[in-house]
Amino acid sequence: MKGLKVIHRRFKRFYGKQSGNKIWIDLSGSQLLKTMLHETLHAKHPKWSEARVQKETGRRWAKITDRGLVRLARLLGRVR
Ligand SMILES: [Zn+2]
Repeated sequence: MKGLKVIHRRFKRFYGKQSGNKIWIDLSGSQLLKTMLHETLHAKHPKWSEARVQKETGRRWAKITDRGLVRLARLLGRVR
C-alpha cells in the first residue's frame, strides 16, 4: 500500500494498531508478518469490524503466497 507509515511501538496487550495511513507495530511481538497483514487489512477496509479483520487475517494467512510474504516483509522494512 502506498503512503503507509509503519512505526515501532511497544504495546502491552496487543501487537499492532492502525489509524488512517499509520500502522504501529511492536517489533518485540511474535508473528510480525501476520500482524502486518492484520493491520494492512484495517487500513484497506476501515469499515470492517475487528472480528471481520481477524477472520480475514486467518483466512488469508492460511493461503498466503511467497510473494505475499515478501510484500509484507517489505512493509515491515519501512518501519521507523
Ligand atoms: Zn485489529
